[in-house]
This record gives sequence, structure tokens and C-alpha cells, in this order.
Amino acid sequence: MNGEPRVDLHTHTACSDGALAPGELVLRAAGAGIELLAITDHDTTAGFEQAEACAAASGIDLVPGVEISAAWRAQPIHVLGLWLDPAAPALRRALAGQAAHRAQRMVRICARLTALGLPGARLLQTVQARPGLPTRAHLAQALTEAGIVKRTEDAFRRYLGRGTAAHIAADWPALEVVVGWIVAAGGIASLAHPARYRLSAGARRRLLGDFKAAGGTAVEVITGGNAAEREACADWAVGFGLAGSIGSDFHDPQHVWNPLGRLAKLPDRVTPVWRRTGKPHSTKQPLP
Ligand code: AMP
Ligand code: MN
Ligand code: MN
Ligand code: MN
Repeated sequence: MNGEPRVDLHTHTACSDGALAPGELVLRAAGAGIELLAITDHDTTAGFEQAEACAAASGIDLVPGVEISAAWRAQPIHVLGLWLDPAAPALRRALAGQAAHRAQRMVRICARLTALGLPGARLLQTVQARPGLPTRAHLAQALTEAGIVKRTEDAFRRYLGRGTAAHIAADWPALEVVVGWIVAAGGIASLAHPARYRLSAGARRRLLGDFKAAGGTAVEVITGGNAAEREACADWAVGFGLAGSIGSDFHDPQHVWNPLGRLAKLPDRVTPVWRRTGKPHSTKQPLP
């Protein structure tokens, strides 16, 4: 081993579409040997606040984080904000706007479901009764629980995914705007799962260039289930002068194919993003 900490900088809790309460996630991460953990719920930092005490008791270095929904040339893009100040007023205002957008989009999607002859109002109520910020994953679960589809994947394939009858394209703020929010809140922006976007090679290079120019610092080189794309992600990090981050994108212990704490290490040629912070953990290690 090269002395690097065991890291997971991309996880979800019940504050968005994860299954575990923030404290439960921290306990599970501690059990999996994770030393540096970020809770990165969709468009909310609420999980960090709820998990702080538990992390301190477990000896986990908990990074304040968020996964913000953005748009780049009409393509939804996810940007991780890490080591940011969750109390920064401008960030709080920005995330309140994201939450409002999510709530409105859910109403519109459910109206579409009603038009398709499904119980849209009841499904909306079910989603609104959940504690976290609403996502399509919640609605997929509601459709499953109502017996309308068998599995959540079917809900996306039939109703919620791009090109289906109840799909509403979200009007997320531009990538540059979102990176700006993160940087202004003292955070580090990492482009989440860069291989997962359906883009041509040229478009992906332009995305990475625009992300870097906007103030982005890192790309997620190791994510749950991306073994086949790791070398390409590492090449993008090195080629664009970006650091690398590691994150499982853990949502649910029942998703046995994507557990906490079983991630590969970064290829040696990639600078770990945790060395680019001036925050406590990085002081334990020499800067490159
Ligand atoms: P939203 O941010 O509201 O658009 O919801 C997107 C969330 O739904 C993602 O973060 C995933 O957790 C989940 N999701 C998206 N596409 C699928 C899919 N095809 N199957 C299962 N879950 C999905
Ligand atoms: Mn999700
Ligand atoms: Mn994502
Ligand atoms: Mn995620």
C-alpha cells in the first residue's frame, strides 16, 4: 500500500435517493474501513449536518459534500462539490432553488402519468411524503410499490427515462454556474462519473475543457462499476490537468453490485483530489 487513506467521496443517503439515514451510512462506512467519506446527496447537504456527530464518534473524516445537477449543452451533468461550506448563504440559496425545481418537476411528471391513465396524484403524494429531496428514483420506487411496474429499472424504461411518455427534461443551471456555486462556497468541484454521459469523444473533450475552464478541479476516476472505463478516466484527468476522485455512488445496501468500501485505488499517474485541499485530512499527508 502507498499510505493513501481508504476513500469514498460519492455516497447517497435518505436525504435524497439513498436508502440509509446519514448516521447509518457513516456506521456502514466505518465498518467497511472507510477513513475519508463524503455524503453527496442530489442537490442537498442535509446529510452532512445529520451525520457529523456520528462521524466524529466513528473516527471517520466526513467531507461536506453535494452532487449538484447541472446542464451542459442540454445534457444533464452531475458535479460533486466537496469540502464546501454547507452554511454559505449563496450556496444555500442556490440549493433551495434546485429543491424548488425538483418539486415542480415532480408535479409535472405526475401530471403526465395522470394523463397516461395512472394514479399520478397518489404517486405524487407518496413521493412528497418521503423525507428527502424528491428524485425520479423516488417516483420509480412509488411506481414499483403501487405494482404499476415490477422493478425500478422498468419505471425508467417505460415512464421516466429520456424519450419515454412521462419524461420531463429538467431545466438545470449551466455547468459553469454550478461549478461557480461550489467554488464560491470554498469547495472543490469534481465531475461525477464522466464516462456515463452519452457523448461523442469530441463532445466529452469539450465538456472536460469547459469544466476545467469554469474552475473544476477533479474528475471521478474510480466509481462503482466503471472498471472498464478507469484508464480512460485517468487519461482525461491527466490530459486536462485535473485531479482524480474516488466514489462508489452508493445508494442502497440491496444494490449488492455497488457496495461501500470496495473501490480500486487511483492509478499512480493521477493526483488524488484529497491532496489538493487545504483541509484537515490532507495535512496528514505530504503534498505532491
Ligand atoms: P433525478 O436526479 O431526479 O433525475 O433522478 C435521477 C436518479 O434516478 C439518479 O441519481 C439515479 O439514482 C436514478 N436513476 C436514473 N436512471 C436510472 C435507471 N435507468 N434505473 C435506475 N435508477 C436510475
Ligand atoms: Mn441517485
Ligand atoms: Mn450522478
Ligand atoms: Mn450519485
